[in-house]
Amino acid sequence: MKRTTRPKQLSRPKQYVRQMLSVASECVPLAKTGGLADVVGALPKALEPLGWHQRVLIPAYPGVLDSLDKPALAFDGGDLYGGHINVYRGTAGDIDVMAMDAPHLFSRAGSLYGYGGEAFGDNVERFAALSIIAARIAIDGAAGEYHPEVVHAHDWQAGWVPAYLKFWGNLVPSVFTIHNVAFQGNASPHLMGELQLPASEYNSESLEYYGQLSSLKAGLVHANKVTTVSPTYARELLSPQFGFGMEGVVASRGQDMSGIVNGIDTKVWDPAHDIHLKRHYHLGDMRGKAINRAHLLSEFGVPDSGGPVAVMVTRLTYQKGIDLVPGALGPLFDAGGTLLVLGSGDAEYEQRLQTLVAEHPGQVGLRLGYDEPLSHRMIAGGDVILVPSRFEPCGLTQLYGLRYGTVPVVAHTGGLADTVMDWDAAKYDGTPATGFVHTPNNTDSLRWALSRMSGVYHNRRQFSQLRRNGMSKDVSWQPSAVKYAALYESITNHRE
Ligand code: ADP
Repeated sequence: MKRTTRPKQLSRPKQYVRQMLSVASECVPLAKTGGLADVVGALPKALEPLGWHQRVLIPAYPGVLDSLDKPALAFDGGDLYGGHINVYRGTAGDIDVMAMDAPHLFSRAGSLYGYGGEAFGDNVERFAALSIIAARIAIDGAAGEYHPEVVHAHDWQAGWVPAYLKFWGNLVPSVFTIHNVAFQGNASPHLMGELQLPASEYNSESLEYYGQLSSLKAGLVHANKVTTVSPTYARELLSPQFGFGMEGVVASRGQDMSGIVNGIDTKVWDPAHDIHLKRHYHLGDMRGKAINRAHLLSEFGVPDSGGPVAVMVTRLTYQKGIDLVPGALGPLFDAGGTLLVLGSGDAEYEQRLQTLVAEHPGQVGLRLGYDEPLSHRMIAGGDVILVPSRFEPCGLTQLYGLRYGTVPVVAHTGGLADTVMDWDAAKYDGTPATGFVHTPNNTDSLRWALSRMSGVYHNRRQFSQLRRNGMSKDVSWQPSAVKYAALYESITNHRE
């Protein structure tokens, strides 16, 4: 008898949806102060097609519960640090969110971390509470029989999570991602008991960090795998210059530490559909870019002098190299260029930029504050985007720049070095140039980069090619999501 084999396409594909929990202090669209929020909000969407369903646990800051669709009680966290904690599950856009409602810790005026420029005095307890609840949910499960296979904890605010998971039975594996090693969540060792940490773990191999406790170190030491947000930053973290004291701990993780570059949400950041733009554009029709440029200049009240419009969208801090900019602008102004800055942060840099505006009327525009729609209009309306950071774990605005044909001029550090190919270096590298990279990071080298950029800007054919190279680059999450999925897989016991 003739044997028949079932045609392959008729066999039902096995569908595995792997549950996992992501824990962070920020998540777009609910709470954001920086790139961490973008990453935490974008990863679930990028991982879903790869079979990993991420729920995101964040604190219920004011307004978060109201922004959730159909919130329902998912976990009773009991009393902790002077009040009751309930965790509600709902959706925010495409994201499955668990919001930790602890009014005594998170229902406050001010920013996510402080008020009037001062950090809240109980930030250690606030985020230890987040970490304790995350670990308990992962271990005990929440309503609806939720048992995540992996927990992904982000930055110092969730740094205790891998430690609790290990101390409390080592049942659920974890990944810890460092978005910025400069923020370390240090606490007095007297808080060991209050933080529910075993006294025996206060030693240099575990939680002790120069006589203190450090939640960042806890995550680094106790997670099954550690990542940071670019390969270059992963290497930089091994050096005292960039490691902020953690270089030895990073080195001790060896092959368990890796760098995975961030992507961007290419639906939200898409010049062909961006809801904030005056006119849409894409590679096939770039006319809208000039319209956005003209609108942006008039919005800032800066005349068009025919040269490159340089934009910056940034926190105003030492890290971001703001102080390097004023002395480097000569070649930009000589080429008829202008600088438009959107930022908020340290008073000293706000003041310095206000002085710059006064010194260069009609050439520099400034908006102080946090303004998401304006940030989109700036990325679309600029010709170039400056990111002169002293260190930059990944950086997102240069990626937005690439996608919007706004050529990045960046320092050679961290993710900036990994995502932008310098105009001159490209000739030797054989890869298409996408921007201008300066090193060492000081005013002189930034001035030289702006001088090179201005020369290319006035060669329409060359500049348009640069733009096109950037816009053709894949800056989506897809390639990196594949790497995260492989990492999760490597620490679970799941077998088909
Ligand atoms: P970091 O997280 O160190 O601040 P990133 O480049 O990784 O730097 O991410 C910064 C994010 O915050 C980007 O999405 C950027 O557009 C946004 N951003 C920074 N400052 C502002 C601002 N003043 N207004 C609006 N968005 C801002």
